[in-house]
Amino acid sequence: MSGQAAQAAAKKACGETGRGMNLRQLIAGNWKMNGLAADLAELEALKRGLAMAPACDVLVCPPASLLARAAEAAKGAFALGGQDCHAEARGAFTGDISAEMLKDAGASAVIVGHSERRQFHGERDQDVAAKARAAWRAGLMAIICIGETEAERDAGNAHPVCGGQIGGSVPKDATAANTAIAYEPVWAIGTGRTPSEADVVAMHAHIRRCVVERLGPIGRDVRILYGGSVKPSNARAILSLDDVNGALVGGASLKARDFLEIVGAGMPH
Ligand code: PEP
Repeated sequence: MSGQAAQAAAKKACGETGRGMNLRQLIAGNWKMNGLAADLAELEALKRGLAMAPACDVLVCPPASLLARAAEAAKGAFALGGQDCHAEARGAFTGDISAEMLKDAGASAVIVGHSERRQFHGERDQDVAAKARAAWRAGLMAIICIGETEAERDAGNAHPVCGGQIGGSVPKDATAANTAIAYEPVWAIGTGRTPSEADVVAMHAHIRRCVVERLGPIGRDVRILYGGSVKPSNARAILSLDDVNGALVGGASLKARDFLEIVGAGMPH
């Protein structure tokens, strides 16, 4: 399908399923296991760069070790999030962090089910759903990640795999206020490769249909972010695609200059 044909198909799907095209975009940065105290200077630079209110919502998810100091640096100029949380609020879980702890340190959101958690920590869909519930319990927005591997895409299974992850990872009582979904094809994360525009549009339309099917009409307003090798050079093209309601950005969120360029490509809708 050409990019134009895919856009037309997505518009039709949105007309059928809701108004996923008109949502304020969210640009979220995931620092992963990167960042020492010296890197807080990037957040100061980000704050300076955001002095003129951006057209979209901006969130940075630094490592938990920096969260409280990052909140100090951000001073309300942008929101902060965690990268993972335990399903329980407290207890004997050495090395883990709860959603309540993230909230206490200044977070308003948390990423759950990132493919690196699924891959390296064996997290299953039901674990991700429990973490999403934990996020809500603490008053955080959950950014629930889904995405297919390269082998799954090559086998023609990308859509059913993502549909299955939505069914397993997104609790049925999710709302647009407490949940966003990040579509992150695993093979695009940190590789410099991205799906074609037509593939992104087709997948986002599919995710929209699955979310509306699962949540009912409120699924129309749940933001669907794209993640995987978003950078200043491709952000505008990706963020202008139908039903792309923002981006989850890894490597390119580490430097304020790059991240600001991506934020600048965000749309008010
Ligand atoms: C991510 O880790 O969520 C991600 C999208 O990484 P990158 O932008 O580096 O591909």
